[in-house]
Amino acid sequence: MSEGVPRDVADLVRQAAHRRPSATALVAGTRRLGWAALDAQVDACAAGLLDRGLAAGDRVALMLGNTPEFVIAYFGILRAGLVAVPLNTASTPVEVEWLLGQSGARLVVCDPVTGRVVREAIPAGSTCELVDVTLGAWEDLLRRGREADAAPAAVDPESLAVLLFTAGTSGRPKGAMLTHRALLADLAMVRDSTDPPAAVEGDVVLAVLPLFHVYGMNAVLGLAASVAATCVLVDRFDPGETLALIQREGVTNVPGAPPMYVAWAGHPRLRERVAGVRLFICGGAPLPGDLFDAFQEASGLPIWEGYGMTECAPVVATTLVSGAPKRGSVGRPLPGLDVRLLDPGGVDEDDDGDDQPPGHGDPGELWVRGPSLFSGYWPDGAGGPDADGWFNTGDVVYADAEGDLHLVDRRRELILVSGFNVYPREVELVIDALAEVAECAVVGRDHPYTGETVVAFVVPVPGVSLSSERVLAHCEERLARFKCPTVVTVVDSLPHSSTGKVAKGRLREVHGG
Ligand code: AMP
Repeated sequence: MSEGVPRDVADLVRQAAHRRPSATALVAGTRRLGWAALDAQVDACAAGLLDRGLAAGDRVALMLGNTPEFVIAYFGILRAGLVAVPLNTASTPVEVEWLLGQSGARLVVCDPVTGRVVREAIPAGSTCELVDVTLGAWEDLLRRGREADAAPAAVDPESLAVLLFTAGTSGRPKGAMLTHRALLADLAMVRDSTDPPAAVEGDVVLAVLPLFHVYGMNAVLGLAASVAATCVLVDRFDPGETLALIQREGVTNVPGAPPMYVAWAGHPRLRERVAGVRLFICGGAPLPGDLFDAFQEASGLPIWEGYGMTECAPVVATTLVSGAPKRGSVGRPLPGLDVRLLDPGGVDEDDDGDDQPPGHGDPGELWVRGPSLFSGYWPDGAGGPDADGWFNTGDVVYADAEGDLHLVDRRRELILVSGFNVYPREVELVIDALAEVAECAVVGRDHPYTGETVVAFVVPVPGVSLSSERVLAHCEERLARFKCPTVVTVVDSLPHSSTGKVAKGRLREVHGG
């Protein structure tokens, strides 16, 4: 299929190649690849994988950084009707062993660095194969694909495209099953309902967010392909170098995460470097209000915030829908999605005991329904949308008078102190306001009298001294007693996820909680 509605995700590349064959699809350092050339490589990869005996529905893991080979392999896997399993490049051998075992991947596409991890991870006697994209085996796969007679069969849009292991912020990773239809539906909704548009033909999109995460994979790479925009691939974020690259390549769209904006807000050449940027976008983790202000002040441009999750392929809401950036808000839901806020239960300070759906302003758990939702977790689809199609995101959210959403916290992060709800985010915002604090994380810990108690981990600004007492005294002045941490631990650093969220599961493993 070259025109009309794409049926599978790799059709996006085919259509871009028809519309803009010689326009640049990918930039990676000095390498440049046009859409027609990329499409031919994707064809070769798809046929090459099938030539190795893989059959529709087989899983192929992908453990690569943001390189052209990731893009070729990703779309090649999808065009062949296989299932892509992108793995975090920072995973350890123990993690990879578990992910490969869970997914039953038959082949792993890797590079020399990730290849070492994969080799350690693959148990003796396993039939799982490795293809290192820097070695002859990759060239061989593409060559055999080019020589193959049969083109891959058409892919069913309802078939599984991607298995994305999502750790959330706690617990063991689960494989969210996303079909071609779900991934394409999210892109269509984002394209059709954003003004200013999230992406248009002729845009130059920075792809610095990891492509193995749903945000980079679909909301950056997929979206760019769907409008035949150019993707500038960056494998390692360096604040100064990436800014210089933005200027040099004429980048217009910068999808990012909070840590990038922290690093850029104080950069002396920010304004001059980003003069050609059309959109700064942020999602994946909370964007502090002060950072929103500081970045706009320094760059002259606002940050458009969005909210989503792996299970929703990923975008759920963005300020690009309302057309107005708003401090502290993740914007409005995509019009193609149904959303509702339901009372998460528990006891709020002002709780009146009912369990009716919350009204305007009351926080509730966000439920979503629509064509972009996942089909449950691998392998049996457990935990997916209910019989009526609703999925509980687990995020606690409130809508303001204009219908713009504000995230309060994750439901599962809720701490119950003597039965009262404490949202860690509220406590974190108070602690973050201290000038000596670089970062903090608040979690619940079992307590013999109150059920749970609030504990805080605080990272001081480098070179600044900070005591637990100072943090405790600051909290006591600003928070109701049951919300105040009873233990504050000063630490050197906190563990993070790839979009900059504090990995509270790992934090608890290390420090208890
Ligand atoms: P993931 O599946 O890794 O993309 O993580 C999804 C989770 O990230 C959501 O359920 C939210 O808790 C969080 N998240 C995503 N976007 C935002 C945002 N703009 N602000 C705060 N949290 C966010």
